[in-house]
Amino acid sequence: ARPKNKQTEGPRYSQQAQNVPPHLLKKRDELLPVRKSLPIWPQADVIKAALKTNNILVLTGETGSGKSTQLPQFLIDEPWCTKCIAITQPRKVAAISLARRVADEMGSFMGSQSPAAKVGYSVRFDNATGPSTKVKFLTEGMLLQEMLRNPAMSQYSAVVVDEVHERSVNVDLILGFLRNLVTGQESASARQHPLKVIVMSATADVGSLVKFFEDSQPSPTTEKPPGNPIDESTSLKQAEVASQAVASRISTCFVEGRQYPVKTVYLPQPTQDWVESALKIIFQLHYKEPMPGDILVFLTGQDTIEGLEKLINDYAEGMDKDVPKLLALPLFAALPQHAQQRIFEPAPFRTRKVILATNIAETSVTVPGVRFVIDCGKSKIKQFRNRLGLESLLVKPISKSAAIQRKGRAGREAPGQCYRLYTEDGYNTMDERTIPEILRCDLSQAILTMKARGVDDVLNFPFLDRPPREALEKALLQLLHLQALTETGSISETGLKISKFPLTPTLGRVLVEAAKPERDCLLDVIDIISALSVENVFLNLVTEERKEEAEEARRELYRREGDHLTLLVTVQRYAAEQTDRKIWCDKHFVSHRAMQTVMNVRKQLQQQCMQQKLLSKDDTQSELAPSEARSQAILACMLRGFISNTARMMPDGSYKTLMGNQTVAIHPSSVLFGRKVEAIVFNEFVFTGKAWARGVSVVQLDWVTEVVKAIM
Ligand code: ADP
Repeated sequence: ARPKNKQTEGPRYSQQAQNVPPHLLKKRDELLPVRKSLPIWPQADVIKAALKTNNILVLTGETGSGKSTQLPQFLIDEPWCTKCIAITQPRKVAAISLARRVADEMGSFMGSQSPAAKVGYSVRFDNATGPSTKVKFLTEGMLLQEMLRNPAMSQYSAVVVDEVHERSVNVDLILGFLRNLVTGQESASARQHPLKVIVMSATADVGSLVKFFEDSQPSPTTEKPPGNPIDESTSLKQAEVASQAVASRISTCFVEGRQYPVKTVYLPQPTQDWVESALKIIFQLHYKEPMPGDILVFLTGQDTIEGLEKLINDYAEGMDKDVPKLLALPLFAALPQHAQQRIFEPAPFRTRKVILATNIAETSVTVPGVRFVIDCGKSKIKQFRNRLGLESLLVKPISKSAAIQRKGRAGREAPGQCYRLYTEDGYNTMDERTIPEILRCDLSQAILTMKARGVDDVLNFPFLDRPPREALEKALLQLLHLQALTETGSISETGLKISKFPLTPTLGRVLVEAAKPERDCLLDVIDIISALSVENVFLNLVTEERKEEAEEARRELYRREGDHLTLLVTVQRYAAEQTDRKIWCDKHFVSHRAMQTVMNVRKQLQQQCMQQKLLSKDDTQSELAPSEARSQAILACMLRGFISNTARMMPDGSYKTLMGNQTVAIHPSSVLFGRKVEAIVFNEFVFTGKAWARGVSVVQLDWVTEVVKAIM
């Protein structure tokens, strides 16, 4: 049934006006000219026409051309759009900031602020949607979870899959599920209007996307819809692809982006110390280049970002009064919301913004005002090492296409400059494209999702790029080890429980284990998992002097059992802090920013455990300072999930993994660094020069061998 206030003609925005406070309407009106100036604006009618006749649209356009913000607004008043529009994002940051932006542009409240809110978002551990949400930005993971609950996606009129070029595993799964859905292979419930699928990408690999959906079309028709959605400027090749596509009810549309020339500057010699080089260039630019003109620096992760942030602030303190100010703003996935939002705010008077970002800012988030880009040429990526059977985080050179995207960020509003912290030769040796995640990462979560959604034959799932059989089998085995699958390969009770949590199967398994009556340490484990959801709760310190000072201050938090219990104590103390948490953090060299995120995740996980009936309502304060027995129970749970990440000490004092026989060393960031114990369990493998185990705890060797024996 259609909502009563639904009209098919004219914009409905004016209708809402009566219920909306004037400041929202004022903002909406102020933003309208900005929207109209976006490259996608003139294509609105073409896009609407395309979706009138076709159910699938592949839309390509440079980052910043207005795809994510405008497309849902173009569609919201279409006659077929009686329900909500879902727009997926690879990252939380983007989902939230886009929802805010679109709410502003529509003059609407946001999310759960008001029952009348038209725009909302749903990200892991944070749901801000209401009964009248019509435009919903959500992370890919959240859409997958919704797909588990409602395979026909009957709550949506359209699903927009954005940032497809990033090719996350989740996007590949979503595309596979949607392809099955639109071909009617799956139980498409009786819908008044067929589900519209819009696939959006910043880099044009239209051909393979069209082919992917085309192959799935049951009965291609040669009928040409009115208003062929091809822009005049579209290249011949694209027009060709498009006309084929039209024949099978798929449209394509291409939006030309705005791009000013960007000058590229390479380093004459390669460097390892990007932080130092970036710092130098930032201050050179700041002294030399006129304002306005913000600087965007691409770094690898939270650690390097916070390190550089600190250095900039230290140096900026020493600047003369007559020099404009510098404002360093970090941007990474685990950043709390209010900090993310600061990126979009204009810089204060006589201040230059320096945004320190991970590859989030490559395409996901468009930061206005940037004229200078500094690119370290690396990013941290997840890589599954088949031979070792382990997934690790590696700092790797980016691809040429990523480097080009990064550079492009400098030329959106005016001519810009891009400083590459590598040599031209270095650039020439980069891969052309980034390898899709599905071809290089651990597939166990993906497969668990598929199993939970009733896909039994994962080897024959429609993948845009088929992962190697070996990788699929490894993942199946891993799930079997976690007891998430039964011997026959179907999903088990435990597997179903795990699949309901937005966690990796490993962490999900830890959680499920902790809820068992004989373990009884769920609250503690939730605290630890929450702390593991951020890159680092402890501040990363650069100078030796500061490091020593921090060691001293944190000593009271350290536990001899290792990092997991240390994290537990840190979270518990922080949560129990009554006076001033910020001061407590400063005193212990703990990142207040990270802890805010941790507390939010903790709350959400507790709520989810209550929904799953693993936890009762009165049960929300974990016992401070866990007893010996409880500590052992917690570590036994960790071990149950992380059984592939265990190592034993060799006679020569080195550690070797039990499954894989790989040499690892305890990472210097661990409280166990330098200690010799009989066996360890750890969270992740980091390769920097050698193989490091990060997030480490002591376990008894006979426990490990017992679990290993049981599953082998
Ligand atoms: P695309 O999806 O094509 O990359 P977007 O729709 O994300 O483009 O962005 C269009 C424009 O809207 C950009 O110029 C960007 O600066 C602006 N914009 C997007 N999100 C925000 C935000 N949260 N705050 C301010 N401006 C934003």
